[in-house]
Amino acid sequence: TSFGFKEVKEEEKSKLVGNVFSSVAQNYDLMNDLMSAGLHRLWKDRLVSKLHPFPGMKHLDVAGGTGDVAFRIIDTINSVSRTAIQDGLEDELRNETRVYVCDINPNMLNVGKKRAVERGLGEDPSIICVEGNAETLSFEDGSMDGYTIAFGIRNVTHIDKALAEAYRVLKRGGRFLCLELSHVDTPIFKELYDYYSFSVIPAIGELVAGDRASYQYLVESIRRFPSQGMFASMIAEAGFQKVEYENLVGGVVAIHSGLKF
Ligand code: SAM
Repeated sequence: TSFGFKEVKEEEKSKLVGNVFSSVAQNYDLMNDLMSAGLHRLWKDRLVSKLHPFPGMKHLDVAGGTGDVAFRIIDTINSVSRTAIQDGLEDELRNETRVYVCDINPNMLNVGKKRAVERGLGEDPSIICVEGNAETLSFEDGSMDGYTIAFGIRNVTHIDKALAEAYRVLKRGGRFLCLELSHVDTPIFKELYDYYSFSVIPAIGELVAGDRASYQYLVESIRRFPSQGMFASMIAEAGFQKVEYENLVGGVVAIHSGLKF
């Protein structure tokens, strides 16, 4: 089956992305492990270590899906709290921590809620799921210490609107971090990676999730996403300072960061 995503009109993109993630929600975590050979776990660890989470922080994880990034932030904060000298004070602060997981797709959030319960975080007030669109966030101006988006911005229809919203909701001094599949340009590695993405990924999608089209869409959307340098310029255009990026695995993924001054 050919997916022909390029022919799809912009207005229809959100709906289509919604359908893709409804159909993959149940298999989503397994597929991530299979397609990245477990590496996505390390990439998310790296993202969260660059965030420097702290007890009491207000954080927004957009396109948060099944909660992978949010759980890492909470775990980091809890380990920070436990090692703190002034335990009483740290506990008090920890109770004020809020990590919002925002996603456009309720099926993904529902899987996330189940996982929260399994991790003993079912009643934890610090983790909050919110259905919403990255382009029109429901959070107040200057309300967040941090903003993360992992493997999400590629699916957003108007990336500039999502970046403007990220900037709006952050406090001064707040940090923007984006983890995304990006571009490889080392010659031989690029050929191997192209083979992997165009042949292996859709085949895994078909075999494991019975859904070749969604995984073909995934590969095409990686291709169309701006290069590391172009995306960095877009982040700077949204108003962020100190914009930088780090390539992981030769650019298979990149972590972009910026600060709101
Ligand atoms: N961040 C999670 C992770 O790394 O495991 C999930 C990533 S998943 C590949 C992409 C997510 O983006 C999906 O859960 C999808 O529903 C969500 N998404 C797509 N478009 C969105 C939008 N405009 N606003 C918010 N979330 C969106």
